Amino acid sequence: MNLTIERRTLAIETPFEISRRRQETATIVIVKLDSKRYTGIGAAAPATHYGETPATVEAVLETLRPILGDIDTPHHINRHRRQFRSTIRGNPAARAAVEMALQDLRGKLLDAPLYQLWGLDPTDTVHTSYTIGIDSPDTMAQRAATAVDQGYTTLKLKLGTDQDRAIVRAVRDAVPQARIRVDANEAWTPPEAIAMSQFLAEHDIEFVEQPVPAEHPDGLRMVTQQAPLPVAADESCQTPADLPAVVDACDIVNIKLMKCGGLSYAREMIATAHTHGCEVMLGCMIESNASIAAACQLTPLVEYADLDGALLLAKDPYTGVPMPNGKIALSELNRPGTGAVKC
Ligand code: MG
Repeated sequence: MNLTIERRTLAIETPFEISRRRQETATIVIVKLDSKRYTGIGAAAPATHYGETPATVEAVLETLRPILGDIDTPHHINRHRRQFRSTIRGNPAARAAVEMALQDLRGKLLDAPLYQLWGLDPTDTVHTSYTIGIDSPDTMAQRAATAVDQGYTTLKLKLGTDQDRAIVRAVRDAVPQARIRVDANEAWTPPEAIAMSQFLAEHDIEFVEQPVPAEHPDGLRMVTQQAPLPVAADESCQTPADLPAVVDACDIVNIKLMKCGGLSYAREMIATAHTHGCEVMLGCMIESNASIAAACQLTPLVEYADLDGALLLAKDPYTGVPMPNGKIALSELNRPGTGAVKC
């Protein structure tokens, strides 16, 4: 079997700003695993916030070459998954990419999309939110109106500025019917978050993501207990091992393949979060459809999706699961595996 590792830097359509940084490009690492007949595709979108870079992803993927054997049957895939799991520790985006490629290959060998192999209903999916990065209130309101004109029904606003209330007022005025959630990316203190939640509830906001810094789980718990709107944990919950500390400190867990290490870890996390009474949102980094398509396969299992990573790119070299008006249309996918294919 052959392993190909390919770094790509992709332009973002509109420079993307959140409370702690601004991003104009996204660098991903595409992974291809060739069996005799098929190629499995995956991709890593490493986040420096979680300690990974394209170089660390490439370095760890190179260590897999000596253990690659033939992958021509589904049980070869299981053997490789076990070996990869024990070879790569940490490095969640690298692990996610290679597991995605293996699962894609499994689907191609069995001629079925992943959701079908997992027994999931392709019509039971949700709409992805479309994210509006930080800018002036007027510009964010314009972008929200444009997104709604394009058919998106659900928006996510990035907050964590000194104009948060003006932003929410302007956007709510511009798109009175839209379903809106907000993400402060750790920007507020617990008392600020509780006060903001009151204001946001008055403006018909759905929930608040990561209002307070991740290093203080008690702060997250306090906001969840005292604020009117539901609270989603993103930076506070990266891997399955983080779940026990957050399940009683939030209402929703934002699970991302690039944080947790791949599709199988994500499935474990979804089940554990639900067991503890938390809802689940599937999220993403700014990514190509090479990896977003894989996350889409899990959407029949979750309550919310924020899988717009590829929609924010100027041009994506891959296409994936159709998203008409933001609806993750797994039932319209007629390709096996993750559904990712080069444009
Ligand atoms: Mg977030």
